[in-house]
Amino acid sequence: MEKLVIDGGRPARSEPMPPAYPGGMMLGQEEAEASGAVVLDQSPFRYYGPNMRYAVQQLEDMISAYAEIPYVLGVTSGTAALVVALKALGVGYGDKVIVPANTFLATPGAVVCSQAVPVFADVDDSLNISPESIDKLCEDDEVKAIITVPILGNLCDMDAIQSIAKKWGIPVIEDIAQSCGATYKGSFAGTIGDIGTLSFQMNKVLTAGEGGAVITRDANLFERAVRYHDQGSFREKSRYGIVSDDEEKAFVGQNYRMSEVTGGVLVEQWKRLNGILGVMRARYIAIQQTLAAELPGIKFRVEPDSTGYTGSHLGMILPNAAIANQFMEYLYAENIQVYPLYGGKPVFMLPQLLHQRTADVKGSPFAYPFRKPVIYTPESCPNAVSLMPRTMYLPISPLLTEQDAVEIAAGIIKVYRSLNISEQKG
Ligand SMILES: *Cc1c(COP(=O)(O)O)cnc(C)c1O
Repeated sequence: MEKLVIDGGRPARSEPMPPAYPGGMMLGQEEAEASGAVVLDQSPFRYYGPNMRYAVQQLEDMISAYAEIPYVLGVTSGTAALVVALKALGVGYGDKVIVPANTFLATPGAVVCSQAVPVFADVDDSLNISPESIDKLCEDDEVKAIITVPILGNLCDMDAIQSIAKKWGIPVIEDIAQSCGATYKGSFAGTIGDIGTLSFQMNKVLTAGEGGAVITRDANLFERAVRYHDQGSFREKSRYGIVSDDEEKAFVGQNYRMSEVTGGVLVEQWKRLNGILGVMRARYIAIQQTLAAELPGIKFRVEPDSTGYTGSHLGMILPNAAIANQFMEYLYAENIQVYPLYGGKPVFMLPQLLHQRTADVKGSPFAYPFRKPVIYTPESCPNAVSLMPRTMYLPISPLLTEQDAVEIAAGIIKVYRSLNISEQKG
């Protein structure tokens, strides 16, 4: 057997992996020119200016065509997209929203900032929200929406989730911040529930540093989303031929409008999406198939759609947290950086949520006299508590070559065998 680096062996890779920003590492001349042109044309605002390029509108039309969904709205961030989606659905004070225990703080954070309270569903072996857990939480009639989050490119079990949501009559928001371009049974992730939200923050598949989008098939939800994101105005009437009466439909909103500079960058990023997905998926499959062939018993995240994932991260479930940490440490020495997500802890264990703290002095959404009080304890999500600290993610950059994939697989096989992982108990 080949020697580990920690035992004086040669590292599986001679250098660290490329930074794991798929779209970010592809930013180039095209993005620079498109955003620069907006500036030189002195027209960085999406709705008017002296020499409009309508970059945000172009981006929205590109997403609409790609995702096969009629309504797309560019916004300032993925968090803004979630708030806008919740407000489009009319969710607010006195409402509860189901959120997976395994997600970024922004998902429950957007719920709280919308004056509602998150309640947490457990995960299953996909590391995504468990349909059974959703079903149980829906028994509480204070629940008014469900947010699903495909984690790091892996799809949620949308057929099961949609049938449960329909049974209870509760709308679904798909937060696909981490999975732009993933498809579930052929449909663009984010187009299956009632409304979808995207993020273009640096860490995501495509990026302009910041940015987000809301997508929906529902003209009424779209109108409400546009109004909320634009201080109550509806400046998209003629573009979509929607007749709407301000006296009747207007409400107070926020400003979450996307800048034309961001739009210019994202139009060019969107053109790179298929290329990025193609390479990531090819490397993902190559590494996964080698590991599966060489390491009988290796456990991957369950894939509810085994071709539609983005391929940005391969999730490996180890027998226990101690061995998972050793696996990570030994692989770092081999120049293969794997890691657990969110410190291996359910999001509600963060102090902001655990202690239910908001910036408000009065009128915190947590202060609402719910018939069924909301408290957060690890016991409510045993699978997340067990799986999160022992699931290690291998980031797969679109910059990885076939040779990189071979070296990475070899390094993982070396460490896995040296640690005798197939013999370890949970
Ligand atoms: C990144 C992320 C967000 C927030 O997106 P921003 O653009 O950073 O506001 C929301 N949800 C999930 C699951 C994310 O990963």
